Amino acid sequence: MSVIRTILGDIDASEAGVVDSHEHLIRIGGGEVIKEGEDYRLPSVEAAAEECERFIQYGGKTVVEMTPASLGRDIVKMLELNARVPNIHLIQTTGFQFSGVYDETCHWVMRYSVNQIADLLIAEIEEGIDEHDYMGPIVKRSKAKAGCIKIGTSYGFITEFEEKAIQAAAIASIETGALLNTHTSRGTMAMEQVDRFLSFGVRPDRIMLGHVQKNPDPWYHKKLASRGVSFSYDGGYRVKYWPDSDRADLIKQLIAAGYQKQITLATDSGKKSYLKAYGAGTGIDYDLSVFVPRLREEGVSEEAIEDMLVNNPARLFALEK
Ligand SMILES: [Zn+2]
Repeated sequence: MSVIRTILGDIDASEAGVVDSHEHLIRIGGGEVIKEGEDYRLPSVEAAAEECERFIQYGGKTVVEMTPASLGRDIVKMLELNARVPNIHLIQTTGFQFSGVYDETCHWVMRYSVNQIADLLIAEIEEGIDEHDYMGPIVKRSKAKAGCIKIGTSYGFITEFEEKAIQAAAIASIETGALLNTHTSRGTMAMEQVDRFLSFGVRPDRIMLGHVQKNPDPWYHKKLASRGVSFSYDGGYRVKYWPDSDRADLIKQLIAAGYQKQITLATDSGKKSYLKAYGAGTGIDYDLSVFVPRLREEGVSEEAIEDMLVNNPARLFALEK
């Protein structure tokens, strides 16, 4: 049996249903809030519940919460959320964002060895997520475990912090079978992430690249796909940066090139201004209520949509050693 690790325990991968492969439901503070502002703070369990209910109304079943360690993650609130919305599966990540949202000289990633960092990631997957979000010396493990591992890289380069995080995440993924779900800054350094993970012995099917649609160059995407890795195509309705047609065209081209099994969809609406429950925005239902109907209208097959929403995430988020 292939299992997916949700915060309430392991489920059979076939139970995951329609998956949003990258979202933010709760972020109580942290580097993004400090650096980018209050728009990034998502403190309300009630608002998250409202977003989840709307996602379910449109056929959604599983949300991957991609707020990583030491960045405002709150597993206690996530469990409260799941108690309020029992008919949703929530997967919480461990790992790290790109280094610019941390103190890049004093953070424990810079002080601990790669193996010590890897052990902390493995412990969140196998024992439980720290209720204190790995923000201090006292660790209090929740009964909820992490279900995937995040790493991030900067725009056009990889910092020393990120190199260590990548190595530690690779070790933890090989040890636990958990999927590596990445942040690229505007789609850059995706190839370099893949190079590093493969050189550390990670299987390509344990790698899901995030935000690469922000660099919607089909040649680049096909080169990446040819290495066997998958994509989380996220961030719809960001029209001041790019139109939704970029993501739709990319999906159609990748499907035509034979990479339908390597695509998942995600909303990544991790700001108040992207969430209906905070009085604005598009909401975590956007792909299901707007973008997928658009794909249908543009001729994307039901089989491909089923792969992107259901079959591919079920296979990728399953723990596979
Ligand atoms: Zn995100």
